[in-house]
Amino acid sequence: MERSTIVRVQEGLHARPATRFVRLAKGFESDVEIVKGGKAVSAKSSVKLMLLGVKENDEVTIRANGADAIEAVEALIAYLENPRSGVEEGAAGQEAPADASSAPPQPPAAAPVAADVHGGLRGVAASAGFGLGPVFAHFPPQIVPRNETLTGDQIGAEKERFEQAVRRLQEKLDRSLGAGDMQASDRGIVTALRDIASDEALREGTLEAIDGGFDAVSAVIAASSRLAADFRNLDDAYMSARAEDLEAIARQICLTLLGQEEAKLDDIAEGAILVAEDIGAWDLARAPLKRLGGVVCGHGGATSHVAIIARTHGIPAVLGLGDGVHALRDAAEAAVDGSTGFVFADPDAGTRTRFAAMIRAADSEKEALKAYKDVVPRRADGTVIHVAANLGSLEEIEAAQEAGAMGVGLFRTELLFMRHMHLPSEDMQAETYAALARAFPEHPVIVRTLDIGGDKPIAGVEFPEEENPFLGWRGIRMCLDRPDIFKVQLRALLRAAVHGNLRVMLPMVSAVEEVRRTRALIDECAAELAAEGVAHADFPLGVMIETPAAVFGAAALAKEVAFFSVGTNDLTQYVMAADRLNPAVAALNDAAHPAVMAAIEQAAQAAVAAGIEIGMCGEAAARADLIPEFIRMGLTELSMSPASIQAVKKQLQALFEGEKAPPSR
Ligand code: PEP
Ligand code: MG
Repeated sequence: MERSTIVRVQEGLHARPATRFVRLAKGFESDVEIVKGGKAVSAKSSVKLMLLGVKENDEVTIRANGADAIEAVEALIAYLENPRSGVEEGAAGQEAPADASSAPPQPPAAAPVAADVHGGLRGVAASAGFGLGPVFAHFPPQIVPRNETLTGDQIGAEKERFEQAVRRLQEKLDRSLGAGDMQASDRGIVTALRDIASDEALREGTLEAIDGGFDAVSAVIAASSRLAADFRNLDDAYMSARAEDLEAIARQICLTLLGQEEAKLDDIAEGAILVAEDIGAWDLARAPLKRLGGVVCGHGGATSHVAIIARTHGIPAVLGLGDGVHALRDAAEAAVDGSTGFVFADPDAGTRTRFAAMIRAADSEKEALKAYKDVVPRRADGTVIHVAANLGSLEEIEAAQEAGAMGVGLFRTELLFMRHMHLPSEDMQAETYAALARAFPEHPVIVRTLDIGGDKPIAGVEFPEEENPFLGWRGIRMCLDRPDIFKVQLRALLRAAVHGNLRVMLPMVSAVEEVRRTRALIDECAAELAAEGVAHADFPLGVMIETPAAVFGAAALAKEVAFFSVGTNDLTQYVMAADRLNPAVAALNDAAHPAVMAAIEQAAQAAVAAGIEIGMCGEAAARADLIPEFIRMGLTELSMSPASIQAVKKQLQALFEGEKAPPSR
């Protein structure tokens, strides 16, 4: 039984449509094939299906052989002709496939700043606070195959060992799916990996390699590398992400075969210090953060995203320790001072006592600060200063609400993209932004459009090799070159704006033209949504002031937008010509430098003259030494890690009491 048709699936058989198609095919007993351009592959293998590269408007044939062949062909043809019919819409977070285990790309290695000072090691002070606790060393195991050639009589047993490992891995993934405490987005990732583990293409390739004398681990590596290379050769963003999926699941199968466990952050003990060579922002975001006593990493800098997550959750962190991190790997205990960047492995009695006292003092200060949660800082002239939160995921909303955040001054959308390791759909994004807006009904919520490139590339988008990625294809530059990605986000934002006080801001702006082109895309998206009858609303559009060009061009930009937000992390690195991730120039990377402060003042003057609002969402917004200056310049919003909100409210209240006092004679 066979029938041909023209594919009407908009994205082609990529990602979620491919997963749905394969699930549908697997529901039938018959052998089912899909044929394109004379090439036939099993419709039950998502790997083979994606490698076939079926696009919208391609002509394909569905061929089935078996008891339910007619039903299978009809169902699959119906799906290809009308993908919305008859197939249950997955929950927003249940997109697939996705990569579950590989870490998001990391910033380059940082050189150690200093070592062995006062018996301690010194890295970059990345998140203030003190930690003292057992070391939790997170160094993912290496896969070392046996590399022996099998003899003929060993081949059968080795194949069985492989099949068993896949079964055990699937059972493990099923158990975690059944555990009930998994978020919808994580469920989607695990389900996708489970499907790949049992995919025919990987299985056949592995069994063939074992037949050729490879041991099971080497065979899995060979088969998965070959398939991953096939995906990468297609030179397509989605396909590159599939290559990573394959490598991730192959790693899991190999670990199962070797009887090794992936290093699991879930097992962290209360108050433990997480020690790692390198940890991905997304991996850290998924760790039991409430239990963490501190973070120490060989890589990273003060404004890297791991640092930002640590600050959001009030976890002391020292990053950029370089090779010094290995001295901590075998220690039983560590003491971390996130304010100075010192770390002590197995601290002596004196150091332990000192840290215990500092932790107690910090805890009681934290307790006392809770009294400022509901303070609304108001200047003598009645102007309210919004103390808002910088967030990277919905999981952080609670910490922001508990801290008394007056809205969100920066929602970094990158984690959403990193988390899924492929491009999140419009529905999924719209739901996320709407949930954020609903969480702060009384205040503005500013969502920043995708800011990838530089230190934060993502899977799913091919980035060119660049000599200077921070001066390269990132933020708004990349988005305007990729309207296929940008328009999905803009449509999602327009839809979410119906649900609250949503604002949108553009990163890395350096020319008025970038704003105008974005505005044109927004209008195009709004017109499309209107034609489709989808509810949507307009939003105020702002820009980040984080390039010198935006500072010098602030007067012109102010005519185009509703607000400015100063991104001091980037503005400082660009004004000072000092890489924000390089500990060797960390001293120059200081927002308090008069040149940076002058740049902020120039932008503020342009905003005030044009009558638009100006706030700040770079890390300097929480700096007690600079806040009085920012207020003097006319900033009306300071957005920061939730952990800093109460201290800043306290400072502002005291500052404004002073404004109200009659001048002394
Ligand atoms: C900044 O550059 O100050 C900023 C807030 O953005 P990010 O740290 O995400 O680059
Ligand atoms: Mg920035």
